[in-house]
Amino acid sequence: MRLDLELDRVGEWVRRGGYRRVLIQSPLGLRHAALRVAEALEQMNVEAILSGGSCWGGCDVAYREAEALDADAIIHIGHPRFLGRDRRPTYYLECRYLDPEPLLKVAEKAAEIMDGGGVVGVGATAQWLNHLSRVIRLLRERGVEAVAGGVGGVIRHEGQVLGCAYNGLLELEERVSAYLVLGSIFHGLGLALLTRKPVYGADPFTQRVEELGAHAERVLAQRYAMIEGFRRAERIGVVVSLKPGQLRRGLASRLKGMVEEWGRKADIVVLDEVSEQALADLPHQAFINTACQRLSIEDQQRLGKPLLLPSEALVAMGRLRWESVIRTPRYFSMEV
Ligand code: SF4
Repeated sequence: MRLDLELDRVGEWVRRGGYRRVLIQSPLGLRHAALRVAEALEQMNVEAILSGGSCWGGCDVAYREAEALDADAIIHIGHPRFLGRDRRPTYYLECRYLDPEPLLKVAEKAAEIMDGGGVVGVGATAQWLNHLSRVIRLLRERGVEAVAGGVGGVIRHEGQVLGCAYNGLLELEERVSAYLVLGSIFHGLGLALLTRKPVYGADPFTQRVEELGAHAERVLAQRYAMIEGFRRAERIGVVVSLKPGQLRRGLASRLKGMVEEWGRKADIVVLDEVSEQALADLPHQAFINTACQRLSIEDQQRLGKPLLLPSEALVAMGRLRWESVIRTPRYFSMEV
């Protein structure tokens, strides 16, 4: 799939800033884009350094690497801006797809599958956003009244969704009878965990369209089993991430206090990457996750020990009712 690498705009940004050493950060799957950007910068006699580390989202900007290398600026590839301000000048090169066809084709399929009637709230991952207005037109032509989610919080573009944030779409909750999330089943599932309205996930690569209610219920049943495991733990680790958009020290210390009030021992544990090995090596029987919400959903099986979201931990400690949390925005909330 061809991507918009914005090489002219990136070059202009670097030239105007007078940056001489630039760190280029990319997620797996977009390393080739990082190479193209590096080559373009080198032609401008700018030193380009590739980050080979992980890069999960716009929450995960490599400031520490840039600071260690004394890089003047960062080019962060594959995600829109997440953080409110940058510790080093950062260009968010979203790598939007140039070809709308896979998106229009899967939207056509979604229009056939979705029940008619009512308004549908539509969102997409950032890389498809150039074509969202065409999707909305297509849906309307097929008799589906569609409206894009707005901006707000960490959502910077109209219609944008993130794996952890759906503010724009959730604000439409009263108006819509269903949602359509274009980009991946992963992104659709996130929304299905936060709303009781039907959510259709559509993947332009596989052309799969799925109503995700049953999938969300299966995930929640597995999550409840983790809550029960957490209740049996004697020592709890409260995980704090060092990634700039995931670092929630205050939340972690409030949760530690609550666990202690509940009568168990608790420690704050700082981790850069939350891995199976790291959790296995720690003496805690269960953890609370103040980092990326999707670690608890997608990675739980691999991680082994229960890694509860803050809302789930409150349920485990008897401070919230499970039924009042699941399939509401509260489920992913990082406030207690
Ligand atoms: S917190 Fe997780 S889901 Fe949200 S942007 Fe970061 S990596 Fe993606």
